[in-house]
Amino acid sequence: MMNTDLHGYHGIDIGGSKIELVAFAADGAGLREVFRERIATPGHDFLLFVQSITALVERADEALGLPAPVGIGLPGIADPASGRQLSSNVPALNGRLVAPALEQALRRAVVIGNDCQCFALSEAQGGAAEGLPTMFGAILGTGAGGGYCVGARLQRGLNGIAGEWGHWSAPAHLLAQYGLPVVGCPCGRRGCLERYVSGPGMSMLHRHFGGDGAEPMVLAARANMHDPVATKTLGAHLDLLAHAFSSLVLSLDPHAIVLGGGLSQLPHLYQELPAAVRRHLFPGAQVPPILPPRFGDAGGARGAALLAQQHLSASAS
Ligand SMILES: [Zn+2]
Repeated sequence: MMNTDLHGYHGIDIGGSKIELVAFAADGAGLREVFRERIATPGHDFLLFVQSITALVERADEALGLPAPVGIGLPGIADPASGRQLSSNVPALNGRLVAPALEQALRRAVVIGNDCQCFALSEAQGGAAEGLPTMFGAILGTGAGGGYCVGARLQRGLNGIAGEWGHWSAPAHLLAQYGLPVVGCPCGRRGCLERYVSGPGMSMLHRHFGGDGAEPMVLAARANMHDPVATKTLGAHLDLLAHAFSSLVLSLDPHAIVLGGGLSQLPHLYQELPAAVRRHLFPGAQVPPILPPRFGDAGGARGAALLAQQHLSASAS
């Protein structure tokens, strides 16, 4: 293992189609990018995946001038008992012990978090929520996930799943109010919020209300033109999302909620969510600022590097 006098971190953001590594030099001022490279994800061959990451990290070591610890952001989670990767959109990784395999190949520390946690950490440290005592990063894209940071440190919890708000149950009274079905979720449960409030969820709502299930950006444009079905869809989506965020306020009371993922580009969320969240809260309770991301999707690798830094500084102290 490496000594604790570390001078750099590699952050790797792994997606279904591409892998991005960003190497950072660490100094008193924070992380400074020195290297960035993208490769295609070897999605179906674990050995090739390990070899590709190893070669990528070696090129980054050369750019940085020394071998650095590796943080990785991955969709899905690792099984808390076995450490095996679950529900990843990279089939080669499903059921694999990813961190030990990479630690052995790279002969250094490898820390893995999920991509939503890495997003939250990146926005907490130097991002949209810089300087705030607590924050919640909420990703709304193909899925809905998040991470909670206190003092710009990610709180992972007992199972490493703190912040998985997309798998809270959608509130029964709102499903009944909008006549929505209880739909199954890939996590194995039923009625998870993600099925209604993610990008595909919004399209599902539109089909449910008699529309064609268009993409969220298209639906937002149609609602601006007063299309009644798109307007109804955005209204129900906003209400479900606002209820979820009111639950975040009641459970964690974050000083800000930073949005990420594709739906973070929808202007009406910033304009209309605060009042909608307030309607689901106690009278007088403050709604935290709901902020656009500073780094957004580009922060995945940065967040992964910060996760490695956080993990290694905690284990060294
Ligand atoms: Zn679920």
